[in-house]
Amino acid sequence: MIEERCDVLVVGGGPAGLVAAREACAADPGLDVLVLERDRAVGAPGRCGEGVGSKGVSEFLDPAGASWISRRITKVIFWAPDGTEVRVAEGDVGYILDRTRFEPALAAEAGREGAELRTGTEVIALTRDAAEASGYQWIARVRGPRGEGFVRARFVIGADGVESMVGRWAGLDTRVPARDMESCAQYVVSGIEFDPDAIYLHFGDKVAPGGYAWVFPKGVGVANVGLGIVALKGAGRPAREWLHSYLDDYFPTGTRTGYTVGGVIVHTTVKRTVADGLIPCGDAAHMINPLSGGGIVTGMKAARLAGRHAAAALAAHDTSASRLQRYHEEWMSLLGEDHERFYRIKEALNKFDDDFYNRLARTVNGIAPDRRTLGRVFAQALIQHPSLLPVAARYFV
Ligand SMILES: Cc1cc2nc3c(=O)[nH]c(=O)nc-3n(C[C@H](O)[C@H](O)[C@H](O)COP(=O)(O)OP(=O)(O)OC[C@H]3O[C@@H](n4cnc5c(N)ncnc54)[C@H](O)[C@@H]3O)c2cc1C
Repeated sequence: MIEERCDVLVVGGGPAGLVAAREACAADPGLDVLVLERDRAVGAPGRCGEGVGSKGVSEFLDPAGASWISRRITKVIFWAPDGTEVRVAEGDVGYILDRTRFEPALAAEAGREGAELRTGTEVIALTRDAAEASGYQWIARVRGPRGEGFVRARFVIGADGVESMVGRWAGLDTRVPARDMESCAQYVVSGIEFDPDAIYLHFGDKVAPGGYAWVFPKGVGVANVGLGIVALKGAGRPAREWLHSYLDDYFPTGTRTGYTVGGVIVHTTVKRTVADGLIPCGDAAHMINPLSGGGIVTGMKAARLAGRHAAAALAAHDTSASRLQRYHEEWMSLLGEDHERFYRIKEALNKFDDDFYNRLARTVNGIAPDRRTLGRVFAQALIQHPSLLPVAARYFV
């Protein structure tokens, strides 16, 4: 069997894995960095609404004239359960990506820095050889076009997404409570009418229990239309059925193409994100905004830290978990602690019924559009429901 060696093995070629590889190479061009991706191409098949904030994504790739942008978004519109429309933001809001081009663009950057990407190659097991003296402490069993083999690595970055195994193989607790796992389904729908400069978020127990439905424009008359539900609240119906009902009700004449399903972890960062010579990042470590379910930019921000910490630990000849704990701490102060606050808000909001949201939407529409900040929306929610106060206190204080 083939046996290879590398300094840093990155498992998974999604946004997080590709950024981690780029950052590790950029921090130390002498490192031999290998990314293994089990799909035959990066960025496909797409399992995503593809919405990102413009500021966040610009930290990683230049959006000027970029082919990986399907649509520039300048408006955010909420639909209350009864259909009341609330416009909450206007301006440079974000982009709808084309992930079939976005991940290749990230891969090209990683390649330019010196990382090697191998697609169609899956890591099927990972073990640690603690007695190994030369520092190549991790042994990955891999299956690729040339059959099975082994990769020995001095450091492993687990960027293997929502169904991550790397963390588990390393003994980290990456379990997700069932109530914090959303099942999502999405179609690309064409021939429908909506404002192509806006994203729409639609709430309600009859729309998407425990989650929300979205319309993210890919172009004029074409959008990613999907929803996420918490399975425990879904009355035994899978996300796909909820989506079919939604499309029948709201976009009955649209042509459905490009179906996709997937899970989104709406939980907080795993409690322990480091092992000796190994760190997970992105979805693999639950580094997702638990209120929105957005994980592309947050995953890349975590991956940037992961790549840098891997390179620094190798340079210092100290890849111990105790040294790597700094990675966890930096992530928690960057975004992890915000996610804990967002999680508490999500928990509090989950207690309210459709009636509450319908009333809130009407009250917010009473605020002049140019004064409709999220803070003011939240203040209205507090006036209507003082039980939110403890959450607000924890969030704003
Ligand atoms: C329906 C849906 C809609 C979404 N919409 C949005 C959105 O609009 N905006 C947003 O920000 N987020 C959205 N998300 C979440 C977003 O897709 C993820 O948070 C993001 O992709 C995380 O990036 P990642 O690199 O951590 O993981 P991933 O993008 O999942 O990449 C992990 C990669 O690892 C590979 N892999 C896994 N195991 C192995 C293995 N053993 N060996 C080799 N390769 C492996 C996988 O094939 C995959 O390519 C959505 C998710 C779903 C399911």
